[in-house]
Amino acid sequence: MEAKELIDKLEIHHALTAEEWKTLLLQRDDNTASYAAERAVAVRRRIYGDEVYVRGLIEFTNYCKNDCYYCGIRTGNKNADRYRLTESEILDCCAHGYELGFRTFVLQGGEDPHLTDEYLCTLVQRIKDTYPDCAVTLSVGERSKESYRTLYKAGADRYLLRHETADPAHYERLHPAALRLDNRKRCLYDLKEIGFQVGAGFMVGSPYQTTDCLVEDLLFLKELSPQMAGIGPFIPHADTPFSDRPAGSLEQTLFLLSLIRLMLPQVLLPATTALATIHPQGRELGLLAGANVVMPNLSPRGVREKYKLYDGKVCTGEEAAECMNCLQKRINSVGCRIVVDRGDYKKETESCTT
Ligand code: SAH
Repeated sequence: MEAKELIDKLEIHHALTAEEWKTLLLQRDDNTASYAAERAVAVRRRIYGDEVYVRGLIEFTNYCKNDCYYCGIRTGNKNADRYRLTESEILDCCAHGYELGFRTFVLQGGEDPHLTDEYLCTLVQRIKDTYPDCAVTLSVGERSKESYRTLYKAGADRYLLRHETADPAHYERLHPAALRLDNRKRCLYDLKEIGFQVGAGFMVGSPYQTTDCLVEDLLFLKELSPQMAGIGPFIPHADTPFSDRPAGSLEQTLFLLSLIRLMLPQVLLPATTALATIHPQGRELGLLAGANVVMPNLSPRGVREKYKLYDGKVCTGEEAAECMNCLQKRINSVGCRIVVDRGDYKKETESCTT
C-alpha cells in the first residue's frame, strides 16, 4: 500500500499491522509527513478544538539511583551537581504556577531514594489541599504496585513513565542489567489499573534504535492505550556513554507525533522540551504535527541548569513558565490557544462536535 493509503487506514481504524507500520515508517518523506500532519491536526481539532493544555514542570530532584546510559542525571555521572527541592520550595513553584494559569503540576525527578511513599504522599496532599482545582502528575520512575496505589489514594491524578523502547534487546542496550523492560511495562499496567491517567513514550533516534524498534513502540502504545504519550528526540549528554551519538531528528519526531495522534485520537500529546531544544520552533512544529500539550519549566531558576538530562536543554527564555505571554503568542501563531484548565484526557464521548 502507498503511504497515503496507510495514513488513511490508520485514521479510520486507529491501528496498523507490524508490516504496515514498517512500510509507513520507511516511506517517510516530506509529502507523506505533511499529509500525516494535516490529518493529525484535523483529528486533534475534532477532539480538543483549538485548546492547548499547559503543565507546569517541577524538576524537584536530580538524585537518581539508576544508571541509564543516555541520561545526564544517571548515578554514574559524578559531574552532576545534585539537588533536591524542599517541600516549601515546591509549594512556592505551585503558587507561582497557579498565578500564571497552570492547573496541572508535574513533579518529575530521578529515582531518588529519599522519595518514600510517606514523603510523596504528604507532598501530594499539601498540593491538592492548597489547589483542589489542580491535577498533580508524578514522574518518579518504577515503584511497587502498592506504592502506586498509596500515591493514587493520596490524590495524585496522573503518572508519566516512558517505556523508553518496547524492544527488549534494545532496552538492554540503553540500560544496565538491573533495569528490565518487563518491569517497566508492569509498572505501566499497574498504574493504569489503579486509575491513574498514564503516560508512556519513547525517545526518537536513541542509539541502536531501528525501524523495527519503532514498530514495537507503536504496537505497544496501541496495546497499552495510555492517556498520554511523551515522545521526543534523543539528545546526547557529554557525561554519558552516549556522548558521541547523534541526536534524533526533528522530522522523524514530528512524523511519529502525527502517527500517534492518528492511532490514539484522544491522547494527550506534548510537544516536548527536547523537541524545543533541537529546533527553535520545536514546540510550534509539534503542535502543527498533532500535539496538544506543552510543559513549561516551573522549577526555580537556580536548579534548571542542574536538571540536565541532555546537553543544550532549553531552560531559560521563552519555553520557561515566566514567559506565558510569549508562549501564548507562539501558540496563537499556529492557530491554537493556551487555556486555564486541568486538561484532562477526553473520553471518546466528550469530543467536540464542531
Ligand atoms: N525518573 C523518571 C523521569 C526520567 S527523566 C522516570 O524514570 O520516568 C524523563 C525522560 O527524559 C525519560 O523518560 C527519558 O525518556 C528522557 N531523557 C533522558 N535522557 C534523555 C536524553 N539524553 N535525550 C532525550 N531524552 C532523554
